[in-house]
Amino acid sequence: MADELIFKPVAELAKLLDARKLSAVELTQAVVARTKAVDGQVRAFNSFDEADALAQAAVSDARRAAGQGRGPLEGIPIGLKDVISVAGQPLTASSKMLANFVSPYDATVTEKLRNAGAICWGRLNLDEFAMGSSTENSAFGATRNPWDLTRVPGGSSGGSAAALAAGEAIATLGSDTGGSIRQPAALCGVVGLKPTYGLVSRYGLIAFASSLDQIGPFARTVEDAAILLGAIVGHDERDSTSFKTDIPDYRAELTRRKGPWRIGIPKEYFGAGLDPEVAAAVEKAIAFYKSQGCEIKEVSLPHTEYGVGVYYIIATAECSSNLSRYDGIRYGHRAKTAKDVVDLYFQSRAEGFGAEVKRRIILGTYVLSSGYYDAYYLRAQKVRTLIRQDFLKAYREVDVLLTPTSPTPAFKAGEKADPLAMYLCDVYTIGVNLAGLPGISVPCGFSSGGLPIGLQLIGQPFHEAELLAIAHVYEQAHDWKSQHPKL
Ligand code: GLN
Repeated sequence: MADELIFKPVAELAKLLDARKLSAVELTQAVVARTKAVDGQVRAFNSFDEADALAQAAVSDARRAAGQGRGPLEGIPIGLKDVISVAGQPLTASSKMLANFVSPYDATVTEKLRNAGAICWGRLNLDEFAMGSSTENSAFGATRNPWDLTRVPGGSSGGSAAALAAGEAIATLGSDTGGSIRQPAALCGVVGLKPTYGLVSRYGLIAFASSLDQIGPFARTVEDAAILLGAIVGHDERDSTSFKTDIPDYRAELTRRKGPWRIGIPKEYFGAGLDPEVAAAVEKAIAFYKSQGCEIKEVSLPHTEYGVGVYYIIATAECSSNLSRYDGIRYGHRAKTAKDVVDLYFQSRAEGFGAEVKRRIILGTYVLSSGYYDAYYLRAQKVRTLIRQDFLKAYREVDVLLTPTSPTPAFKAGEKADPLAMYLCDVYTIGVNLAGLPGISVPCGFSSGGLPIGLQLIGQPFHEAELLAIAHVYEQAHDWKSQHPKL
């Protein structure tokens, strides 16, 4: 029973909970037991608070018993990436810098999950400060891919993806700056949605690159992703980039919108470096949409090749600024042996940050420095505009774009020791962030070695309802989600 429970989607669990065939406490106990049984191998969690989760579950059960249930997330344990504040719980960004930091308040998304009745469950591992594509950059040890423990789960939200795939949460939240939700979702065989920039409040999210960061859900099904998105969206005056827009009922729209859609295939996303098994799985998905009457059209996003370069200028520039607050005085680890104040800054940052974070701060400081600003940062911003225009031009002809999410299935831990090789993992996901668009990764098969493969659909700004509906049509006709890793 417990095994069946932990792999059920939110939508089904909600029915059991409503019918009183299951209590939130029982469900939470099952998730806790599973986590204790498998997390020694997967290492998706930085920390969890069993007593707190069970207490939240008991409150949820009481609410339901009193007829005050708050909807489909009532009593559902949801894991949060360890960059999203949960009042009273540790918040580390998987960095030594914040090893002892406790959140003084809830992030807006946390507050919204609580208001929807969900149980905030556990702090999920990531690449330090969300910088990476494998979760190997965590200061607290790497997360492993539940499908093959010698492989990475992707990153930076590797803990969020792996925990869900392994049955250690019913759904999770992550953040996506250059692919950190979609790529790990693809590598772990779950659904991951990066919403349009500005749709979900980032108040209470540890900032990496503020013009790119978005919070979004990981879920077992597209319907669950729609439920979660519905719970966390909305304008928030505490985030100045939060957008005022009408919020549709994403779940209801899933079946209301029927297509057929015009689907664009960007030719630049199918070139060298794409694993043939990934290409084949994605081709099959394209054939499926065609069989449903969708118009399939090749399109061009001519500035794609500049995406990785532009991203690693803009993201590092922004991170060098955002991370300046961790100086051992205002925030974070404080060196014990400093001689004076300047030395304290130096030593605290030298001891607190890991190698990748330092590399990015140095790179970001360089591209912003006088004399180099125009040549790098300013030029990158201009190319960013061209990249966005490529997408908007394509959307004059098509409703949505379809691509692979990641060029390869999960790679071996330790395989990409060269930072550049790691950066290239993000070729298909980065454009979406640079252009501020919504993107979703949906499982679309397995490699011959049994590793999950993901399909990416990229929507027009604020067209999440349509994006989810298009993904839902594919998911309804395929049953990849019934397979689970054997741990
Ligand atoms: N892998 C990319 C990076 O290292 C994206 C990370 C993210 O989306 N947070 O920056």
